[in-house]
Amino acid sequence: MSEVLVLNRNYYAIQITSWRRALGLLYVEHAEVIDEEYRAYNFADWLEISRMMENSPSGFVRTPSLKIAIPEVIALKFYDKLPASEAKFTRKNIYEHYSYRCCYCGKKFPTNALNLDHVVPRSRGGRTSWDNIVTSCVRCNIKKSNCLPSEAGMKMLVSPSKPKWSGALSLALRANIRIKTSWQKFVDNVYWNIELDRD
Ligand SMILES: [Zn+2]
Repeated sequence: MSEVLVLNRNYYAIQITSWRRALGLLYVEHAEVIDEEYRAYNFADWLEISRMMENSPSGFVRTPSLKIAIPEVIALKFYDKLPASEAKFTRKNIYEHYSYRCCYCGKKFPTNALNLDHVVPRSRGGRTSWDNIVTSCVRCNIKKSNCLPSEAGMKMLVSPSKPKWSGALSLALRANIRIKTSWQKFVDNVYWNIELDRD
């Protein structure tokens, strides 16, 4: 089974669909294939490229007259909305957004060892919202205490941000659909520039 990531016209991930539907949308020119360099291909271009491809990570669809690579990412040409449901501001979603890592030391922790940290402390008017909350391990939390990161001599590995992914997308992801390498730059705006834990 090969799922395809669907982006809207502005390249925001909005859904995951089947390869059949993806090819259908491509065929009727409602969508284009997007490659890892953000290049877009319409149906004719993609057919041409597929013919020259020896390998395709998601395989090919073959009929007696054509061979077409199953795309991994498509973008809708006429749809620019975001799904109505935004990621809710919940402890679990915050952990997921930051991949269960401390935003100060970058290490991965079990949830019971991960705190939520107000970057601008509450005592100084820091808000409890996506733009001021990050995950932090107990050690970093104690070190930072009631200071700004700069005052505590700490550097943030990632800044607070709101998840890009929609409710619909995270639902699909929770349904155990593997995130493909080619999807990563579209589904998560937190990029951890460190070696991933071997776990
Ligand atoms: Zn830490």
